[in-house]
Amino acid sequence: MIIAIDGPAGAGKSTTARAVAKYFGFAYVDTGAMYRAVALVALEAGLKLPDDEASIIEVARSLPIAIRDNGQSTWIGPRNVSTLIRSPEVAQFTSQISTLPEVRVVIVEKQQQIARDGEAECGGAVLEGRDIQTVVFPEAEVKIFLTADPRTRASRRLIEWQHKGESVDLAAAEEELRARDERDIGRDTSPLRAAEDAVVVATDGISCDEVVEQIAQVVREKTKIKKAKI
Ligand code: C5P
Repeated sequence: MIIAIDGPAGAGKSTTARAVAKYFGFAYVDTGAMYRAVALVALEAGLKLPDDEASIIEVARSLPIAIRDNGQSTWIGPRNVSTLIRSPEVAQFTSQISTLPEVRVVIVEKQQQIARDGEAECGGAVLEGRDIQTVVFPEAEVKIFLTADPRTRASRRLIEWQHKGESVDLAAAEEELRARDERDIGRDTSPLRAAEDAVVVATDGISCDEVVEQIAQVVREKTKIKKAKI
């Protein structure tokens, strides 16, 4: 079973997807981490868009990205970059490099492979990102689109950054999310949108456990439908 969870930044995708994966004993795949790894290496090499497009595509093609600890850590060869890829600077650049179709093709292939391996090993995989239900696994059995009010999302992001010692205020967090949403929704290739058959879940004012229960209910319904058809 593939559970595809998409939505804008700060909607609660990572927390929810991890919890859903734990609930069902499935593999967890954080697809944003892989785009972030490409952006980190490109930034470190001083690459910029639009001038260095070809070099950034080459980085995506040649980067030895590995996702370990059931999706909890991101590695580039022997380097654990799990913390480095979470900075606001990397987040912004990620939403720029992820507009490049050639980057997406390479990364999507890796995501499909990781998810299939996880499915083979654990019986299912939960993927979270922007285009899982529309591009990476359009045939996913369960498609969830998570949303939340922009202010709620910015507050969540602010708390995350403060825990990491970043000095950012609410207005800066709101602006960071607004700019990223605009690029993620407006790009030509794989824009962020809900699939027609997605279940939309608003996460404002409800606990993670409640969100997980709503999704578990959808999974149970789908499983029932599948069994009834056999
Ligand atoms: O989910 P996360 O905030 O880590 O994603 C960082 C950025 O990576 C997003 O703003 C988006 O531009 C890009 N992304 C994407 N497709 C995905 C996952 C992430 O374009 N499936």
